[in-house]
Amino acid sequence: MAMQQGPALDKDVVIAPVALQGAFAEHQVMLKKLSLKRKICVVLVRSEEDLAKCDALILPGGESTTIALLARLAGLLEPLREFTKIKPVWGTCAGAILLAQEIQNPKKGGQELLGGISITVERNGWGSQVESFEAALEVEGLRDADRAFHGVFIRAPVVCSLNAKPSEPPIHVIARISAGLLPKTQTVVPHDEDDTDPTDARTIVALRQGRHLLTTFHPELTADHRIHEYFVSECVLSTCA
Ligand code: GLN
Repeated sequence: MAMQQGPALDKDVVIAPVALQGAFAEHQVMLKKLSLKRKICVVLVRSEEDLAKCDALILPGGESTTIALLARLAGLLEPLREFTKIKPVWGTCAGAILLAQEIQNPKKGGQELLGGISITVERNGWGSQVESFEAALEVEGLRDADRAFHGVFIRAPVVCSLNAKPSEPPIHVIARISAGLLPKTQTVVPHDEDDTDPTDARTIVALRQGRHLLTTFHPELTADHRIHEYFVSECVLSTCA
């Protein structure tokens, strides 16, 4: 599939949640509500033909193993990997797992990833559904950055390590949680509830690498559009030809 690197200035920018499983409709609604300088066109991706029209993708939360399986069955796994090599992709929760390069605690027998961001994540790192939680986050670069972003974490992955090689775009951390919220069984050093430990990768909940964005929580389950706005302006429109 021939893909151009960035959207040309004379056409609408096409942004699409991958609509195989999970919270893609919520992302679609959020994207449609954005008010930006440049017009965007929001579509859903279920096939290679859909993908060919897109300038950027969102991999939604849901279940990473199911999304990967359905992508394989739809013949989309390799095209998505190719897309990820050259165009902006944002992964939320299950989507963050798909966008990671390596995984700990995969499904029994292993699971397929797209790669794209040079990190290792631990799937279900906080535990099962009952260990889900919410936390006020400071996210760097958002509009009204002083106003906390409400992070919704549902069977979220934990970032274990940042593995960018010198030849790759650097990883830029944009949000951490307090170390006191880390899974108790894994906490090595006792921390204050308000402490965000800058040396512990596990406190990272949002990051960028090049044109990609990753959040281990679910911005699409809130009424706050600022991370969608951030993705479109900082990761997508900034790459426009
Ligand atoms: N734990 C899920 C997975 O493995 C992700 C959960 C979510 O997206 N809320 O994909």
